[in-house]
Amino acid sequence: MDYLPIFTKLENRPCLVIGGGEIALRKVHLLLKAGANVTVCSLAFHAKLQEKADVGQIKIIQGSFSESLLDDKWLVIAATNQKDVNKQVAESANSRQQMVNVVDDPTLSSFIMPSIVDRSPIIVAISSGGKAPVLARLIRERLEALLPMHIGRLATISGEFRHHVKKAIKSVSLRRRYWEKLFGNGQLGRLLQKGQTQDAIALMERSLTEEVTKGDVALVGAGPGDPSLLTLKALQLMQQADVVLYDRLVSSEILDLVRRDADLISVGKEAGNHEVAQSRTNQMLVEFAQQGKKVVRLKGGDSFIFGRGGEELEELVESNVDFQVVPGITAASGCSAYAGIPLTHRDYAQSVTFVTGHRKQDGKELNWQALASKNQTLVVYMGLIQAEEIQAQLLQYGRGEDTPVALINKGTTSDQHVVIGKLSELTQLGGGLKGPTLMIIGEVVSLADKLAWYNPEHSHKLTRDPFLVNLA
Ligand code: SAH
Repeated sequence: MDYLPIFTKLENRPCLVIGGGEIALRKVHLLLKAGANVTVCSLAFHAKLQEKADVGQIKIIQGSFSESLLDDKWLVIAATNQKDVNKQVAESANSRQQMVNVVDDPTLSSFIMPSIVDRSPIIVAISSGGKAPVLARLIRERLEALLPMHIGRLATISGEFRHHVKKAIKSVSLRRRYWEKLFGNGQLGRLLQKGQTQDAIALMERSLTEEVTKGDVALVGAGPGDPSLLTLKALQLMQQADVVLYDRLVSSEILDLVRRDADLISVGKEAGNHEVAQSRTNQMLVEFAQQGKKVVRLKGGDSFIFGRGGEELEELVESNVDFQVVPGITAASGCSAYAGIPLTHRDYAQSVTFVTGHRKQDGKELNWQALASKNQTLVVYMGLIQAEEIQAQLLQYGRGEDTPVALINKGTTSDQHVVIGKLSELTQLGGGLKGPTLMIIGEVVSLADKLAWYNPEHSHKLTRDPFLVNLA
């Protein structure tokens, strides 16, 4: 983060603008909106600045900039069309550790002015740090369209009602729930939009006595890694959660999207300690929900595909805890899409099978004969450690040695790495790979040559393992 966004209170605080033209006028407007006590220094003044001075809204000083003007000022804006003057202002302010903005020159500025969407008291500030002003403007336009005008009014009357709610609902999390429900269903906003303020207040009053105490669990699939593959519902629930229990597979970029005040608890599996970890997780889910909390159980990919989601839900059913399930993009879908490997294709594969390389100790054997048949795609989760067995069994049951295979490591992330080879090489292919890796076996893999499109910045793109190239 190159800049720390802050909202600063300028009411009645002296601020200085150097320059008297159109741009200075715009800055003066903004400062006045924030209630600042504005002095403008310039050789000449825009008529509108002169008018403001005439009615006592601002103070103007005609003349050149001198450092003594900075005395007692909270912040300074240099908006002249003279580069050397702007530079002098910036240097003086910087040497005195006063906040200074030079219009259109971030290198001289200690603060920059963002684009803003003003729905006071809701204010959205957008900045590209001076790198892409047009992009920042487009984002602002989108937000302007997205945020209805009455949202400011909504915030204002909520502010007025806050102390009342505080008295009526003692628990912090129940209070938050009250507001979420009120803002979430849109009813309040609609009343305000129609100007029915009294009805809006009556609705707020009525909602105080409605039951909001029940906790619940949302079992949410977080997708394979790329945060933009989250569903809208996943994101909404993550932003309303009191507590989030997440797996090791869930990336930090995704966790960054969780509501800031929520408790984040890692229940990542520890090798060799599975069962204990799982039963403790189940227990925590039940306990938190029974305390009235909104719990999100966040899992990599989809919770119902090799995610043990079913087991956790059974526990919730037994304890009579309400739950919902939000599907996620499973690794097979995410990785195949980002590697350009369609899982089915009319010419090559009429079916696709997902299997796991990791099974319970007493787990059932896979039906290798069926898995080895042609014209199907086999996707193996957690397959890397079993590569040897997978290769041997498939070959034994008649899958061709040349059947193409892909290993997709950290799929859909900026570190995605795809290794392509043949079934007869499978054991060697995964050599240097660390982290989650998905195996795709079948003729469809050869389509990646044509269809691979995702080139994350840091990855080696689509490669054959150099080790194998040397062998060939
Ligand atoms: N429920 C998850 C799977 C959990 S099992 C889902 O639906 O995707 C964990 C295995 O999933 C890993 O060993 C790996 O084989 C696969 N996997 C998950 N995320 C992956 C990713 N981003 N890239 C490659 N493989 C991934």
